[in-house]
Amino acid sequence: MSTSQRSRQVLVQRRQVADLGTVLGVWAHPDDEAYLSAGLMARATANGQAVAVVHATAGEAGSSGTSLDLSSRRREEARRALAAVGVTDHTMLGHADGGCAAVPVPDAAAQLGRIIEEVAPDTIVTFGPDGITGHPDHRAVSAWVSAAVSRSRRTISVLHATTTSTFVDRYAFINEQVGLFDYDPSLPRRTEQHELALELVLGEHELDRKLVALRAHASQTKDLEARIGTARYRRWFSVEAFVEVRPLEGTDLLD
Ligand SMILES: [Zn+2]
Repeated sequence: MSTSQRSRQVLVQRRQVADLGTVLGVWAHPDDEAYLSAGLMARATANGQAVAVVHATAGEAGSSGTSLDLSSRRREEARRALAAVGVTDHTMLGHADGGCAAVPVPDAAAQLGRIIEEVAPDTIVTFGPDGITGHPDHRAVSAWVSAAVSRSRRTISVLHATTTSTFVDRYAFINEQVGLFDYDPSLPRRTEQHELALELVLGEHELDRKLVALRAHASQTKDLEARIGTARYRRWFSVEAFVEVRPLEGTDLLD
C-alpha cells in the first residue's frame, strides 16, 4: 500500500470551534480573514476563546486609491472588520503587498514565531499551499506558517481554509465573474465533505455579522457587493471550510 493510499484511509477528526482553544489567524491581506474566517472568529470570541489575527501586508496594492492612502485606509478597515467579530489583537507584519513570495521564508517564519510565542495559539488558521485562489502572497504565507510551526516547541493544530466541491459548483458563476481562481488554472481545489476537519455553515444572524465585517473592508468590497448583488454576496462565503494539516504534509512543505 502506498503512503497516499494509507493516508486516505485515515479518518478525519471532525472539530468544533469550541475545541480550537486560542486561535491565531494568519492571512496575507486585510479582507482574507473576513471571507475565510469571520464566522469562525465570531463563534470563538462568543465562546470566550482568545483570537488574534496577523496580516502579512497592509493590502496597499488592492483596488482603489494610491498605495500610501490605501495602506492607512486598509489598516483602519481591518481594525473595524475585526472589531465586528470581537477581535482586537491584530498585527500587520509590514511586508509589501504582492511581494510576500520574495521574503526569505526563515525571516518571515522568525517574525511569526515571535507572535506565536506571545499569542500561544492552540490552533492556527491560514491558507493551504494552494493559497485558496493561487495568489502568490497567500501561498507564501502558508509556507511561512508551516515553517514557523515546525520550529515552535508548542503543539499547534494548523487548519487550512479550503474550497469545497459544493462551493465550486454552487458559486461558479460568481467565481468566474470576479476571476477568483485566475491565478492558477489548476484551481479551484474541490475538497470533499469527508476530508473537512471543520465546517461552519453560518446561520442568518452569523451571515449578517460576517457581512458587517466584509463591508468594513469597503475599499475592496463595496464595488464587488454592488456587482454581485447583496443577497448573493452575503451567501457566497456562507460556509467556512478547513482541512487539518497532517504532520507528514507539514514536513513536505518545508522542502
Ligand atoms: Zn488576499
